[in-house]
Amino acid sequence: MAGANGLRAVLLGAPGSGKGTQAERLSAALGLPSISTGEMLRQAVADGSELGARVKSVMAAGELVADDLMAAVVRERLARPDAAAGFLLDGFPRTPAQAGTLDEILAEAGKAVDAVLLLEVPEHVLVERALARRRADDREEVVRERLRVYRQKTEPLVELYERRGLLRRVDGHRAIEQITASLIAALGRS
Ligand code: AMP
Repeated sequence: MAGANGLRAVLLGAPGSGKGTQAERLSAALGLPSISTGEMLRQAVADGSELGARVKSVMAAGELVADDLMAAVVRERLARPDAAAGFLLDGFPRTPAQAGTLDEILAEAGKAVDAVLLLEVPEHVLVERALARRRADDREEVVRERLRVYRQKTEPLVELYERRGLLRRVDGHRAIEQITASLIAALGRS
């Protein structure tokens, strides 16, 4: 496999689309850090940090953490050495403002987003998966709220990245291994 150096990719998809699972698998296959903002925030809540205290109720309600707070979290994370040679972002950006923040952070380092992978999964499958997963924020009403927030705030990113020629759509309603293979192929790394 070609070296994955320099690959800065975003995984896009609704909650329950399998982004986290695939980000981990791609990370192992490509040797790039998978950066999950949801994981970082859950860790902050678990640690009882100041950040955790600020985001806990927002997360529990299935709403989005404020863009300026997320900008600070991601800026700090991308500045760490392991992200210098590339990364897979899982769960960020989630709004057009966050996409702008990501562009700014990368532009400061003379870099840019190389690819955006969209995991496409039918709505009823998303709800079934999320309910089966039963995380603290996975009560059915919260699941539905997270989907609504995705449609309203995050889905505009699909068109935004499509216009920029960065979007690659992958069918996320297949066996896990097949999806990973398609993602790797979509990145031109197979
Ligand atoms: P996830 O694990 O990516 O589904 O994220 C879990 C929760 O963390 C989301 O429902 C949001 O409350 C919060 N979160 C994660 N990433 C972001 C982000 N980029 N912007 C705002 N909120 C986020």
